[in-house]
Amino acid sequence: MSTNDEFLTADHEYAPNQVVLKLGGSQTNAFNPRRIQVSDLVYILPPKMIYHACDPNAYIDWQDMTLRALRDILQNEIVTYHYGTSEYDYTVGAFQCDCGSKNCVGFFSGFKDMKLALQLHIVGNASEYIRGRWKTQV
Ligand SMILES: [Zn+2]
Repeated sequence: MSTNDEFLTADHEYAPNQVVLKLGGSQTNAFNPRRIQVSDLVYILPPKMIYHACDPNAYIDWQDMTLRALRDILQNEIVTYHYGTSEYDYTVGAFQCDCGSKNCVGFFSGFKDMKLALQLHIVGNASEYIRGRWKTQV
């Protein structure tokens, strides 16, 4: 990762599944829109802002809490992951996405509010917490 910017960019090229960033870091609370929800009551703060993308280039590996490349990432590319894989209820930071992707979530307020087809598209990279909540939703 690069350390000069406010948000995460790639400091060099990454191949698929390569670790881009170790998450973990400090804990925060549910009211911080920069949070990443790990479990029911645990929220962590990544060392840098990581942007959302509906077709992201990275994903969270929940086994070892790392951000890994989903595809090849070029040097200086903005590193993104899908917030729907970590935020079940994101009312606190809800936003409108206009990325134009065919998988675009549009107004995003959490995994719980996503269309089923889009949930199915990303659930493989979603946290245990989200997958647990999802089973009771559908
Ligand atoms: Zn989008």
